[in-house]
Amino acid sequence: TALIEARGLGRRYGNVVALDDVSTRVDAGAVTCILGDNGAGKSTLIKILAGAQPHDSGELLVEGEAVTFQRPKDALDRGIATVYQNLAVVPMMPVWRNFFLGSELTKGTGPLRRLDVREMKRVTRDDLASMGIDLRDVEQPIGTLSGGERQCVAIARAVHFGAKVLILDEPTAALGVKQSGVVLRYVAAARDRGLGVVFITHNPHHAYLVGDRFLVLRRGRSIGSWLKGDVTAAE
Ligand code: ADP
Ligand code: ADP
Repeated sequence: TALIEARGLGRRYGNVVALDDVSTRVDAGAVTCILGDNGAGKSTLIKILAGAQPHDSGELLVEGEAVTFQRPKDALDRGIATVYQNLAVVPMMPVWRNFFLGSELTKGTGPLRRLDVREMKRVTRDDLASMGIDLRDVEQPIGTLSGGERQCVAIARAVHFGAKVLILDEPTAALGVKQSGVVLRYVAAARDRGLGVVFITHNPHHAYLVGDRFLVLRRGRSIGSWLKGDVTAAE
């Protein structure tokens, strides 16, 4: 069963058809890339998957069960975590405090909430290190990290709090070549841990580097959908 299966999803805003009959899936241990230029419907699709707004046609299945998300918490409760481009981080706060800000969003994370400060620092350092980011000092304000490292902290946080699906909204859009590489390796590490990843980008090269499945949108419609290794791309 797919972690997420979208079947003919649609969404309108008044007369504007933002998304029209779009289908795709997200599997455990695989990256689904959503490509498309501005206005293609990428934000609309991720908002539906992330619970920020409901779809108004088609079906959304999570692990085989039809759902209609009304609130972000509905998606979080199903293990779907979203890292938006602007990241929910507080620049002046230490890295470790930002890491555990997530625990206020995910209620009932049990023993984790009772960790003491030293333990939270250790968890932050170890979790980042285990996926390839070595921070000497988790006490430094997160604002002093590079944009790529900040993305990685946000991803590590979602992984730590038990996400099954990670939705990444243009995580490399504001980054240069080197920092993009840092983030792409991190995305691959999350995938290798068995998460399903939705990777939104308008950079085909970045999609190619980490993607297993590709969906290209234009004006709300799918204009191509294929798997890695497929040479018969549509359009
Ligand atoms: P993308 O993220 O690919 O740039 P969007 O999903 O933001 O695309 O937008 C798809 C289309 O829907 C665009 O034509 C956009 O102007 C329109 N749209 C998006 N959100 C709204 C909204 N809240 N109200 C009206 N139109 C919207
Ligand atoms: P992005 O490239 O991330 O889609 P945009 O600048 O296109 O960024 O859109 C920013 C936000 O505004 C998105 O959440 C989108 O849904 C919303 N939006 C886009 N177009 C419209 C519109 N015509 N009316 C209202 N909201 C819109």
